[in-house]
Amino acid sequence: PLPPKSSASSERVKVIVRSRPLSQKEVDEGHVSVVEVIPENGEIEVRRPPTSSNEEANLERKVFAFDAVYDGSFSQPYLYEEAFRPLVDSVLEGFNGTIFAYGQTGTGKTYTMEGNHESEETQGVIPNAFKHIFKHIASNEQKRYLVRASYLEIYQEEIRDLLSKEGIKKCELKENRTGVYVKDLSSFLCGNIAEINELMAKGNKNRSVGATNMNEHSSRSHAIFMITVEVSEIWPDGRNHFKVGKLNLVDLAGSERQAKTGASGERLKEATKINLSLSALGNVIAALVDGKSTHIPYRDSKLTRLLQDSLGGNSRTIMVATVGPASFNYDETMTTLRYASRAK
Ligand code: ADP
Ligand code: MG
Repeated sequence: PLPPKSSASSERVKVIVRSRPLSQKEVDEGHVSVVEVIPENGEIEVRRPPTSSNEEANLERKVFAFDAVYDGSFSQPYLYEEAFRPLVDSVLEGFNGTIFAYGQTGTGKTYTMEGNHESEETQGVIPNAFKHIFKHIASNEQKRYLVRASYLEIYQEEIRDLLSKEGIKKCELKENRTGVYVKDLSSFLCGNIAEINELMAKGNKNRSVGATNMNEHSSRSHAIFMITVEVSEIWPDGRNHFKVGKLNLVDLAGSERQAKTGASGERLKEATKINLSLSALGNVIAALVDGKSTHIPYRDSKLTRLLQDSLGGNSRTIMVATVGPASFNYDETMTTLRYASRAK
């Protein structure tokens, strides 16, 4: 057997896959799933759907392996506990962490990151992380914590503050001695869960303003929710110890082929930029996982430059690739799994 792959870099970068259940509509229309998840092995198997000219196709199977795989039977709280809690714990210890949701539009990126607010059971990573952070703070009274949140999106390689008092505001990416930062990005102190939930709702509302079609807009822009946790503690020697951890929660633009044949002008330009930033991210993660690369190409996109200090080094990263199980999603599902395996 091969030796376990447990270099520090592969511990710090994890790639997991989540396949959502067939929707009611898909079931009603008679679609079947071509995806099977084998959680014990971290494997996902995809069957090529048969066509009228190729009845044999569904015998063709491809198996991919990841750090973990989940199908529609795994609940939001389960995923948080198993897949995400350790990363947020490390943020509370003063490290940086980033969680990306990558995949075709309609496969569960927003469900994974935000979920819906109907019940505790359906809340995604962001509300669960808030609960986790504030519970941790409440049980560590000897330490002092400051929690700050910012919310921005990257649209057409342009950074937009979603919490600015003036509505959506364009911001510049700057660099100084300490690293890369977004100039004039608003950030808000949060004292409890309600306050941070309110910021998320406000940002989401701003995001939809000016978008003629919210779905289309969210499939073409990256949304990044940033939480900074500062901790200070007086040690027995009387000195004040100070740590800062940063958590980036990223709902990426849809990975589907954006430029349908015939796209031109603005649409083509937009599509090219999305493809560029997603492939730049794939390259950075692949280089980090590889562990031997001396050059990590952070500078190739706004997204990777912005997150540079939270990708690599002592930071932890989780890429969640989301897929739809229906046969008509076959091509996009395969493309997503190939992208994710490359990052692995
Ligand atoms: P995306 O953000 O990738 O475009 P969404 O998160 O909006 O996709 O998901 C599309 C639809 O599928 C939504 O109605 C969502 O509630 C549902 N959905 C996604 N993932 C799951 C899941 N794991 N379990 C149940 N429903 C899901
Ligand atoms: Mg979405």
